[in-house]
Amino acid sequence: MKIPGVKGMNDVLPADISRWHEMESVARDVFALYGYREVRTPAVEHAQLFARGVGEATDIVNKEMYVFEDKGEELLALRPEGTAGVVRAFIEHGAYVEGPQKWFYVGPMFRRERPQKGRYRQFHQIGCEAFGIAEPFLDAEQIALLADYFGRLGVRAELKLNSVGDQNCRPAYLADLKAYLTGRKAELCPDCNDRIERNPLRVLDCKVESCQPVLNAAPRLLDRLCEGCRTHLDQVKAGLDALGVAYRVDPRLVRGLDYYVRTAYEFTSDALGSQSAVAGGGRYDRLVETLGGPPTPGIGFALGQERLAMILEKNGRAATVRAPEVFFVTADAEGALEALRRAAELRQAGIACDLDPRGGKMRAQFKQAERVGARHAVVLGGNEVRTGQAKLKDLQTREEKPVALAELASALRRP
Ligand code: ATP
Ligand code: MG
Repeated sequence: MKIPGVKGMNDVLPADISRWHEMESVARDVFALYGYREVRTPAVEHAQLFARGVGEATDIVNKEMYVFEDKGEELLALRPEGTAGVVRAFIEHGAYVEGPQKWFYVGPMFRRERPQKGRYRQFHQIGCEAFGIAEPFLDAEQIALLADYFGRLGVRAELKLNSVGDQNCRPAYLADLKAYLTGRKAELCPDCNDRIERNPLRVLDCKVESCQPVLNAAPRLLDRLCEGCRTHLDQVKAGLDALGVAYRVDPRLVRGLDYYVRTAYEFTSDALGSQSAVAGGGRYDRLVETLGGPPTPGIGFALGQERLAMILEKNGRAATVRAPEVFFVTADAEGALEALRRAAELRQAGIACDLDPRGGKMRAQFKQAERVGARHAVVLGGNEVRTGQAKLKDLQTREEKPVALAELASALRRP
């Protein structure tokens, strides 16, 4: 019986893995340049952490979270996002006593969404979180880091920026927004109607075509920011200008939770089609406190690796494989044993090589060498073992040259 993989959860096959390695190694390199250090937290947390840390009013927690009872003892959840777990660890290990911290993570997330292109049930995120600094230049620096990262991968992504206000200016705005949306209920989709009471800011995020006229005409928080939020946004913009990072202010860009304040941003790419967001971030100055830590401002983003992989592939960013330098073709049992030994020797010297322990017809072994993309082949049999001499064949040019088996490593290093 064939058992298929779980719907919405993907394999990344060896032919594609190098793009993933690149995404992650460039992230590690670039993030380190900005002082971010990696943290690893579990894929499973108490369900309650997300209810509080992401919010009960969100789709992520409300509809999409994988929750299970662990042998009837406690409710656990597969993490739907990375921030809550990182904040938990930040608090649990008392990291705040050391002053401001910049952390990043890489790993799988789980949401029971309707699978479609760019939207999966297990997906992977790379994210940054910076704690302990409320000043707007931190926001600018973090956004610039992400722009820098995309630039190094040759990815063109558009940056949208907005402010979602704070506890001073948001409540009055929300009341007006609710009243406006309620008045035009009939023109909005069922999802929007659902959210008017629960999470009115999120309504602005709706992508349904028929909702757009109503939402475009909705009152804008951007026009009603308090002094503090207005100055903050201006400073983020000044920082981005100074760093040469282009942005577009999008008054409808939101993060639909109470402890998100001020800066909200998103990077989108045309290469992605309808799921166009490749990364999203925002300031969450009250989250650490909400999760039981001391008041500590913070700002973070998460980027979707599957979506980034799609862009890289579309850009023709080749997935590279490390092909063997040499493939040993064996003529007999003696040659097979010698190949095993010589291969070990070359690998010790850092030279990739391969052989086929099945032996068999030499023609088939040469075919195999070509299939795996080997640069050279060396035939080994009793004769080569006795003389210590063999022929190194360049599989591209078909040229052969004699080589002493003892000098194979240096011959391969300096062809
Ligand atoms: P979207 O509006 O696309 O649903 P979101 O607001 O739910 O995104 P975040 O929670 O901010 O997304 O996650 C950050 C990034 O993670 C997204 O920009 C996207 O690239 C990626 N992402 C989110 N959900 C998924 C998913 N189900 N499958 C693949 N990638 C995802
Ligand atoms: Mg989503």
